[in-house]
Amino acid sequence: MRAWVREHRRRARRIGLVPTMGCLHTGHLSLVELAQRHAEAVVLSLFVNPMQFGPNEDFANYPRDLESDQRLCAKAGVAAIFCPSAESLYAVGHSTFVEETRFARGFCGDRRPGHFKGVATIVAKLFNIVQPDLAVFGQKDAQQTRVIRQMARDLDFPVEIMAGPIVREADGLAMSSRNRYLNGEERRQAICLSRALETAALRVAAGEHETVALVAAMRGQIAGAPLARVDYLEIVDDATFEPTATLQRPALALLAVFVGRTRLIDNALLTPTGTMHAAPGGPGNARPITGTASPANLR
Ligand code: AMP
Repeated sequence: MRAWVREHRRRARRIGLVPTMGCLHTGHLSLVELAQRHAEAVVLSLFVNPMQFGPNEDFANYPRDLESDQRLCAKAGVAAIFCPSAESLYAVGHSTFVEETRFARGFCGDRRPGHFKGVATIVAKLFNIVQPDLAVFGQKDAQQTRVIRQMARDLDFPVEIMAGPIVREADGLAMSSRNRYLNGEERRQAICLSRALETAALRVAAGEHETVALVAAMRGQIAGAPLARVDYLEIVDDATFEPTATLQRPALALLAVFVGRTRLIDNALLTPTGTMHAAPGGPGNARPITGTASPANLR
């Protein structure tokens, strides 16, 4: 990887990085496309990072499909795949970690202790190895993207962080490698997440700005799916990630829901005007969905 980076740097090519855990889907490929619009050579990393999984989480079962990933990367024009082994990345005796302490609190940070420490550490390592000019993350993992932006800023990584909008299935379910875990009935009920976000958007468009009411409406949607159980469901200020009682500025509806044994996350930006954005993204990435909020807004 270092030799590849040296060669591309020598030719003054802008390098883009898309970090993933593999089992690629259209959501990942949309990030590659975004990176390719801003960089001449895009590296996609494939690494199921053991450090970001808790002891009772799905590290061992996490879906892996290297052949399919390689095919999709070739088709997408990815310049290099970086697919290190855990042994090569974490040498015996590894004892240094990166921890962001503001945005990594709450939500997935509380529910998955150590998760964002694992994420920040691996992303810092990838930045050091690949030395990208820009790196693209998904708004699907809104809190993760926020943590990484902050880490890059605080630790002076010379990397531009961009965010790509959430790519969804036709019925609204946010694409995720973990959707593979769902059986037929769970898959059908999994649309309760995007339905809940649509409900919130519709309520906001109709003039409801109290988050208590919006959260209750979203919980009502999830309650309608017997196989679903809320892990967390909150509305936070988009800039600060602090809870907000009334929508005065753009806010993020964040939710994590177990469907059967599979934990899914999703989010949507709610703006008090009734305009909803699929994702705030980085500069030029926002895909505003204007007009009255309708269920189609999330698709
Ligand atoms: P993962 O392989 O799940 O760790 O995801 C790798 C990157 O792809 C992260 O930056 C995710 O936020 C992003 N991503 C995952 N799912 C989607 C999606 N449905 N749409 C857009 N980006 C996504």
